[in-house]
Amino acid sequence: MHRRLTGPVVIATHNPGKLAEMRELLAPYGIEAQSAGELNLSEPEETGTTFAANARIKAEAAMKATGLVAFADDSGLVVEALDGEPGIHSARWAGPDKDFRGAMNRIQTLLMERGAKTPEQRRAHFIAALCLAWPDGHLEEFEGRVDGIVNWPPRGTAGFGYDPLFLPDGSLRTFGQMSADEKHSLPPKGKGLSHRARAFLMLADACLR
Ligand code: IMP
Repeated sequence: MHRRLTGPVVIATHNPGKLAEMRELLAPYGIEAQSAGELNLSEPEETGTTFAANARIKAEAAMKATGLVAFADDSGLVVEALDGEPGIHSARWAGPDKDFRGAMNRIQTLLMERGAKTPEQRRAHFIAALCLAWPDGHLEEFEGRVDGIVNWPPRGTAGFGYDPLFLPDGSLRTFGQMSADEKHSLPPKGKGLSHRARAFLMLADACLR
């Protein structure tokens, strides 16, 4: 049985880009949200080996620290020709200075070393795992995915992280060239294209209606 989310939540992220997206997704349902960053919660170590495991670690840590229902996501870019890297290490590849230009260069260098030039050889997907953790131990977990290719050179200045590098299937523009509505707003406002929006639709279906 899924459990309905009614009250306020703490969003277990320190990433302003993700916080903005998650807040926008919850707002239409009247769910108020504070973030782990705003509450000065410390960030747990992400020791999981999957996106889902890391989302759960973050949600449970924020739930235990606040006694509130906590909402966490873990996400990243999976490049098939790089054996799934950067994957769960997507944030780490940018380093403490959040140098995504450097991380995108590294992906392109590795793809060229492997001779990956055609779109088929440059397949990639974003994954978002979402976890809601209640103080009584109940968990709700969902995973969304969007497929595309690693585009070179990066294009666009919108969004965050690896957005300029990612060309979703069926689009002529990268995530970095899309408005926030186009990338992650849910229908009818937007197309709900992103991995996070897709996972959120599942969550909304199960826990917010
Ligand atoms: P984490 O989920 O906080 O461990 O970090 C995920 C990392 O994956 C982010 O810092 C970004 O680098 C990358 N990422 C996740 N979702 C997106 C997205 O929608 N666009 C671009 N990069 C993303």
